[in-house]
Amino acid sequence: MPSERIVGIDLGTTNSLVAFMEGDTPVVIPGDDGLNLVPSVVALDERDQIIVGNSARKYLIETPERAVYSIKRLMGRGIEDIQEELKLFPFRLAADMQAGEVLRIKLGDKTFTPPEISAFILRQLKRNAERFFNAPVTKAVITVPAYFNDAQRQATKDAGRIAGLEVLRLVNEPTAASLAYGLDKKQNGVVAVYDLGGGTFDISILKLHDGIFEVISTNGDTHLGGDDIDNLLIRIALDDIKGDMGLDVSRNGEAVATIRKAVIEAKIALSAQPSTKLDIELSGGKRYQREITREQFEQLAQPIIERTIGPCKQALKDAKLKPEQIGEAVLVGGSTRIPKVRALVEDMFQRTPHTDLNPDEVVALGAAVQANILSGGSTATENMLLLDVTPLSLGIEVAGGVTDKIILRNSTIPASATQYYTTQVDGQANVAIHVLQGERELAKDCRSLARFDLRGVPPMPAGMPRIEVKFLIDANGILHVSAREQRSGKEAEIEVQPSYGLTDDQVESMILDSFDYAEEDFRQRQVIEACNEAETILAALDKGKKSPAWEQLTSDERKQIAKLQKALNQVKAEDDYEAIRRAIDALNQGTMRLAELMMDSAVATALKGKTMDQADLGERPQAGHPVAKADFE
Ligand code: ADP
Ligand code: MG
Repeated sequence: MPSERIVGIDLGTTNSLVAFMEGDTPVVIPGDDGLNLVPSVVALDERDQIIVGNSARKYLIETPERAVYSIKRLMGRGIEDIQEELKLFPFRLAADMQAGEVLRIKLGDKTFTPPEISAFILRQLKRNAERFFNAPVTKAVITVPAYFNDAQRQATKDAGRIAGLEVLRLVNEPTAASLAYGLDKKQNGVVAVYDLGGGTFDISILKLHDGIFEVISTNGDTHLGGDDIDNLLIRIALDDIKGDMGLDVSRNGEAVATIRKAVIEAKIALSAQPSTKLDIELSGGKRYQREITREQFEQLAQPIIERTIGPCKQALKDAKLKPEQIGEAVLVGGSTRIPKVRALVEDMFQRTPHTDLNPDEVVALGAAVQANILSGGSTATENMLLLDVTPLSLGIEVAGGVTDKIILRNSTIPASATQYYTTQVDGQANVAIHVLQGERELAKDCRSLARFDLRGVPPMPAGMPRIEVKFLIDANGILHVSAREQRSGKEAEIEVQPSYGLTDDQVESMILDSFDYAEEDFRQRQVIEACNEAETILAALDKGKKSPAWEQLTSDERKQIAKLQKALNQVKAEDDYEAIRRAIDALNQGTMRLAELMMDSAVATALKGKTMDQADLGERPQAGHPVAKADFE
């Protein structure tokens, strides 16, 4: 018996698909209704049985309290993050849910988490594949949007596990689409992947070097897609019906559903022919009929289609590329079948986009290619690595509430980076590591991903411990953080667990904010850093005043130091980092001789057989102070 098949799955917001590699060609596996697309709709029937796909759609209209769609929007999210989605989508949350808890969605009287609901879709795809092969299927590659954060990726992996699938790899959707077109064989070049689906728009710029893909920038709009066009057409039809026939059916769910079905059919027809007829039967034997041309349709849809231009430009800008540097354009998503959308892409990237493969199947086909590579079934692409990027910078909080970035936004993953830190308090035993995500300079403006303490650091003066903090984002985009004090070997680590995610709007506004606030952030950061330094030198001075060295100074020297100390204390309270720096420099100058005298006595102490560790360190602070920046590497 041949080794078990690994399937590729596109778990979409609107539609999901499963594909596999037949010889050298990826093919989609149809459902028992003969259709390739499985609508991402889940319903609970009257006997509390789960229904998925086309047969679940009627529940959306007939018993909407027993059905759910667009669940992908809630994957890896918390209740605080989804207020916008709740306004736009009829998600019914469990009533007893607390902030910070994993979301639960109500279907009838039962509740399910988003990964559980996604798992129902995955299980259906798994069944379709098992029926097709007449053999069990337990391994899969699943695609996710390039901008999915840690929690969203984890939630997707969880969904796979719940469905009884071992998720061998999560692959970014644009990367999968490029693979389906075999663009990896081109060796080098830049690819723009334009994905307009049912409810989301994504643009990704990929760079190909020596057959290796790297996502260099992503952008998009999480509330833009074919649904917007449908809703616009429905509104026009409702207005027409009211105006021409004096009938207001806008509150009649069934009538609206009939209109929705008709306008979607018309929209799809107009992608292939110059005109079509809307023919809608309303209750009471009344009919709404209307001829619609592609030109009229395009005029109506134009403002929606044009909303994709801004994100495309931003993605190019982030990638530091001009349109003429794009080598290939790939169309993804059912809505890119609209001729006007194709024209826009051609215009934007100044080349004819690839259209040979079905845009709504291309991501699943690419997932199958990746599955084949992982199963060792491919020779040409055997060594191929698929590289993706992290959408937001990752780092930790350092003294004074400042963010220290460790892995920068748009870094290729898998990625790892190491930075060195130290303590800011003498004898500090516990060191707080606060993991942050975002672009802002201050920790309070970034998203808090996790906190943990490195405990049991042996007593050392501030600045002595050598704390190595290592960030690793694995091939699935999951973040692992470890901290190690190198002198003592004490270690602690954490894997960032699925909690709730950011909304994509938040990600976007966090990125935008960082531009808006860059100047103010920079100034605040300077002030904080200067104050930290001031604290350190003032603390050292207090120590110095208690040392015998202090008595060796002349009274003029002591008076001068007191004056400089007072000056520093004064400017420290103000917001002028340059003034603080000047006062620090002055105090440093003024205490030069004191420092020398203290050094001499420290050497003398050491000679008397005491070590620095035993020298007066006071009480060991137990609370975990954040780390301080260190200048050793
Ligand atoms: P998603 O990736 O969000 O799951 P898809 O890629 O399957 O979505 O795209 C679904 C969208 O594509 C729907 O809005 C559907 O109406 C639209 N669509 C499908 N075929 C066509 C077509 N021929 N012309 C225009 N729009 C289409
Ligand atoms: Mg899609």
